[in-house]
Amino acid sequence: MTQMVVSPKIRGFICTNAHPEGCYKNIEKQVDFVKSQFPGVKPGGTALIIGSSTGYGLASRIVLGAGYGAHTMGVFYERVPDDTKTGSAGYYNSEAFHRIMGSMGITAESINGDAFSNEIKEQVVASLKASNRKLDWVIYSLASPRRTHPLTGITHQSVLKPVGEDYFCKTVDLNTEKVQGVTIKPASDKEIFDTIKVMGGEDWELWMDYLREQDVLNPEVKTIAYSYIGPKVTWEIYHQGTIGKAKDDLDQKARIINQKLSKSLGGNAWVSVNKAVVTQASAAIPVVPLYISLLFKIMEEKGIQEGCIEQITRLFKTQFGGKSKPQVDELGRIRMDDWEMREDVQKDVINLWPQINTENMKSISDYEGFKKGFRNLFGFEVDGVDYNQPVEVNRLIP
Ligand code: NAD
Repeated sequence: MTQMVVSPKIRGFICTNAHPEGCYKNIEKQVDFVKSQFPGVKPGGTALIIGSSTGYGLASRIVLGAGYGAHTMGVFYERVPDDTKTGSAGYYNSEAFHRIMGSMGITAESINGDAFSNEIKEQVVASLKASNRKLDWVIYSLASPRRTHPLTGITHQSVLKPVGEDYFCKTVDLNTEKVQGVTIKPASDKEIFDTIKVMGGEDWELWMDYLREQDVLNPEVKTIAYSYIGPKVTWEIYHQGTIGKAKDDLDQKARIINQKLSKSLGGNAWVSVNKAVVTQASAAIPVVPLYISLLFKIMEEKGIQEGCIEQITRLFKTQFGGKSKPQVDELGRIRMDDWEMREDVQKDVINLWPQINTENMKSISDYEGFKKGFRNLFGFEVDGVDYNQPVEVNRLIP
């Protein structure tokens, strides 16, 4: 037992601690939203969510657990608390998720370790076999700065860089809150290769091959991974940059996985292109916090703003959760970024982008909303939490 008053330790896009009660309230709120969207849930089905503790993977786990009544197996890589320090936000999110699912009579299990490793894949399969379960859904939602390859032992680092030429862009320095220009040098061939190794589709394919070989997939199993395209102002660093190359690889691997699954099990693999949201991964990308701040204000004014939970709820309700095949674009991808990319929304972004500067940032964009959203990720500035009270930090995931 360790009670502490927990205050945020934030530097730029890094926050090194988390507030367990704030994280609990965040999960509770998302579960309540999902329950309102999927009334009368009954336990049923089994889902594996790889990268289930924060962002889009967490939202997918909540929709599958609270919306579909699925037994969720969550895989994530999070810092466990001890008597001297808090756990990471993803750890507390997962602990809260277990408690809330328990109160709804829905089962869940979590595995904290490196999803890229063979050991964690084996652990997932062993656990499925021990409980005599097979998977109906596999969600692949990892965002990682590095991957140690299970066959070569080489550790690949992913980078966020342009390909080919220098990229000059506007960005906001999250420490000084100043809008400034930065130049980012292009990636080397090795950096491009390494980023594809980390954020491309190879590991997703390894997971799906292994799960299939081990006979732990149900007929008509569905798997999905998430991607991003975004507007032209971010293309050089994102869509056409190193991460974009990795996402191209993800698209290719989706087609391969789809072929294998449809042949053997009548199953399917999809990539869903999602909208920009505030997550630990997106806050670290130059340009993106500034773009998100503008985008959110515009989308809020038009009544179409979504966070992770709203976006994934819509994905399941309209595209991925039912029996019918999703609607896809010319490259076979589900487009949940349809509202972000709407012509009127992007026209407003293009109009405001050249104007935004340090002085007007807080009035013409929702920078304060971005900042609060970022703090919320770690359980801070969450409504209904008394941050002056000590809280138990050393919590165990059952
Ligand atoms: P996130 O940082 O919120 O979550 C990443 C998850 O991966 C966490 O659960 C973390 O524990 C887990 N993880 C990281 N390394 C791991 C490892 N080695 N082993 C096990 N688990 C590990 O990320 P996010 O923003 O939700 O991104 C998830 C996916 O969604 C990514 O593919 C991203 O490109 C995509 N996406 C994100 C956005 C956005 O705006 N954030 C938009 C569209 C698509």
